[in-house]
Amino acid sequence: MARTYSMRKRVMVTGGAGFLGSHLIDRLLEAGHDVLCVDNLFTGTKENIAHLHSNPRFEFMRHDVTFPLFVEVDEIYNLACPASPIHYQHDPVQTTKTSVHGAINMLGLAKRLNCKILQASTSEVYGDPSVHPQTEDYWGHVNPIGPRSCYDEGKRCAETLFFDYHRQNSVPIKVARIFNTYGPRMHPADGRVVSNFIMQALRGEPITIYGEGSQTRSFCYVDDLIRGLMALMDSGPEVTGPTNIGNPVEFTVRELAEKVIELTGSSSTLVKEPLPQDDPQQRQPDISKAKRELGWEPSVPLEQGLVKTIDYFRQFS
Ligand code: NAD
Ligand code: UDP
Ligand code: UDP
Repeated sequence: MARTYSMRKRVMVTGGAGFLGSHLIDRLLEAGHDVLCVDNLFTGTKENIAHLHSNPRFEFMRHDVTFPLFVEVDEIYNLACPASPIHYQHDPVQTTKTSVHGAINMLGLAKRLNCKILQASTSEVYGDPSVHPQTEDYWGHVNPIGPRSCYDEGKRCAETLFFDYHRQNSVPIKVARIFNTYGPRMHPADGRVVSNFIMQALRGEPITIYGEGSQTRSFCYVDDLIRGLMALMDSGPEVTGPTNIGNPVEFTVRELAEKVIELTGSSSTLVKEPLPQDDPQQRQPDISKAKRELGWEPSVPLEQGLVKTIDYFRQFS
C-alpha cells in the first residue's frame, strides 16, 4: 500500500545494487519512498537495478563508501560490503576498510543529518560459536587473524562504531545481525552454498560438499529478511539492536544438497572437498528478541524458497 506524502522519506541504501540491497530498494519504492542507491559495483550489478531506471523516485550513485559522502537523506540502510567468502577474501584489506571506514563515513553522515541508520551486521560476529542457538548476548568465538577475519572483525568493529556514535553523539542506530539468506538475484558465481549447489545441480555437475557436510546453517528466504530489516528500521528509538534476523530452522549442508537435488530432479552426485579454514560448524539464530520487539518472524519454508530461487537460476544454467 502506498504511503501518504507526509510519510514519504528519502532513503539511502548503500550496497543497493547487490542481492539484499536490490530487494530492499524494491520494497522501499513500493512503500512510496524515494531511494538513493549508493554502490561501487564491486559485487553488485546494474542488472539487479535495471528495472528501476525509469522510476523517477529512484536514483543510482556510483560511489565507494570508504570515501566521505555528502548527501541529504532521511534514513540510511548501510549494506555495502561483499558477503560471500570468495569475494570478501579477494581483497581483504578493502573488505575491512569497507566495514570500518564505510561505517565511520555513514555514521558521520547520519550524525550531521540526525537521521536513523541501520547496519547490516552478520551472524559471523559469533564466529564458530560455542553457544547454540546464538542469542544476541553471546560475544562470539572469532579468530582475529584468519582468512575470514577481515569480514568478521570488520563487522564487529562496525558494530562498535555504531554503539559508540549512539552513546557519544546520540545517533539513532539499528543493528541487524543477518543470518544466511538466499533467493533470486544472488550472483550465480558468488560461491555461496545455495547458489553453488543450485548451479551445480542444474548443470548436472558434481555438488561440492566442503568437509563432511555435517556443518549446519539456517537459511532465510530474502523476502522474509527484508521484512525483518524494515521492521527494525521502523521500530521505536528504544530498539537499537543488535537483533538477530534469520530463519531458525537448521539444516546440515548435506541435507541442503539432497534437497536441491530432489527439487531440481538433477542427476548430480555429491563430491567432498576440503573444509575451508575457520568454517563455522553450526549456526542457528535465536529470534526471540525480533519476535518480541518487532513482531517479526520468517514465514517461507526452505523448500518453497528454494523452488523460487531455482526458477531464477535456470536462466544461467
Ligand atoms: P552482495 O555482495 O550481493 O551486495 C553487497 C553490495 O555492496 C554490492 O552491490 C557491492 O557492489 C557493494 N559494495 C561492496 N563494497 C562497497 C564499497 N566499498 N562501497 C560501496 N558499495 C560497496 O551481498 P548481500 O548478500 O546483498 O549482502 C548485503 C549486506 O548484508 C552485506 O553488508 C553483508 O555483509 C550483509 N549480510 C548478508 C548475508 C547474506 O546471507 N546474504 C548474511 C549476513 C550479512
Ligand atoms: N562524513 C561524511 N558525510 C557527512 C558527514 C561526515 O562522509 O555528511 C564523514 C567525514 O568525512 C568523517 C566521517 O564521516 O570522515 C566521520 O564524521 P565525524 O563527524 O564523526 O568525524 P570528524 O569529521 O569530526 O572526523
Ligand atoms: N559450502 C559447501 N559447498 C560449497 C559452498 C559452501 O559445502 O560449494 C559450505 C561452507 O563450507 C559452509 C556452508 O556451506 O560450511 C555455508 O557457506 P557459505 O559460503 O554459503 O556461507 P557462510 O560460510 O558464510 O555461512
